[in-house]
Amino acid sequence: MKRVKGVAVLGSTGSVGRNALDVIARFPKRFRVTALCAGKNAAELTEQARRFRPPFVCLSEEVTVSRLGRLPPGTRVLIGEEGMSEAACAGETDIVLAAAAGVTSIRPVIAAARKGKRIALANKELLVMAGKFLVEAARAGGGGILPVDSEHSAVFQAIEGHRKEDIARIILTASGGPFRARTSRQMRDATVEEALGHPTWRMGAKISVDSATLMNKGFEVIEAMWLFGLPPSRIDVLIHPQSIVHSMVEYQDGSLIAQLGVPDMRIPIGYALSYPERLPLELPRLLPHRMDGWVFEPPDGKRFPALSLAYDAAKTGGTAPATLNAANEVAVGAFLAGRIRFTDIVRVVEKSRAAWRKAKRSVTLKDVLRADAEARAETSRTISRMRRPRKP
Ligand code: MG
Repeated sequence: MKRVKGVAVLGSTGSVGRNALDVIARFPKRFRVTALCAGKNAAELTEQARRFRPPFVCLSEEVTVSRLGRLPPGTRVLIGEEGMSEAACAGETDIVLAAAAGVTSIRPVIAAARKGKRIALANKELLVMAGKFLVEAARAGGGGILPVDSEHSAVFQAIEGHRKEDIARIILTASGGPFRARTSRQMRDATVEEALGHPTWRMGAKISVDSATLMNKGFEVIEAMWLFGLPPSRIDVLIHPQSIVHSMVEYQDGSLIAQLGVPDMRIPIGYALSYPERLPLELPRLLPHRMDGWVFEPPDGKRFPALSLAYDAAKTGGTAPATLNAANEVAVGAFLAGRIRFTDIVRVVEKSRAAWRKAKRSVTLKDVLRADAEARAETSRTISRMRRPRKP
């Protein structure tokens, strides 16, 4: 009999967290939930706790604890970064699904990796900000980092059984987002609703906007750097609006190995949890004979400047990617709040470039967190000086 694997779900009320719970619920003989950690959605966390009965639940802010409903007897309620760390590192936990938004999960995930927990990584910001530290911790702990991001899961699968020296390059595919066919002028006046209307994937608001600017793909380049140990010069991006080919690896003999599937996050989530096995997920299958032509095209750097900005941050290294990430998060928040225009997001983020010059080559986790805080403050100041866009 195989032992049931304990899974701590960080970010359980988000889009990836809910999908992960859907997968876990289908396989009660393989997985059990050891911890549910949420931001502030106490109502949904209560519901999830009643359904999955984990030993721990965790909320990021103390003020929201009073909003928790009645929990199953024996459930321990934890709070904040320390609570998340306790839940992630607990003896019952084998796998940490890292899908919590924001920086608060950095230390808990690193601590769990060092303890040898498998990290099923959905929160790419962790690698963008603190890739070096997370990779080192996972190496020391031996539990590994399994990508949940669909593109990186595809690359991971296409690399299995191959020698790293034989890899020529990685090609990450991108749907191109909802504004793939728009002019810059049309994008300027894009509404929040339009930016959230992703053509193939259903995701949270922040990542949907990042997909519309292509900043998400830029972050994925940095994520791939850390996961697969390749320089940014060997990671390319192609727009593939159908989101069927989730990414490809090109080898030095000219072979391209790709992973295909319907766009459903439960597939990469399931693989990250069950690796090296595959789960009998009963989802709609991809039918190759029913598919129309696939399109692949290079991204338009003029209309989507976020991508080259991310490549620059990747090459600069040090705290530059953390600064980029923080500035972007603040700018996206301002766009979602109607404070700035869509095309202002990348314009605002671009201003954080000045801070990259301060990026030291050898940095500590403290330096990274300081750069994050400084970039947030600086970007907020930049936005507060901007004129509010008029309602169309
Ligand atoms: Mg992705």
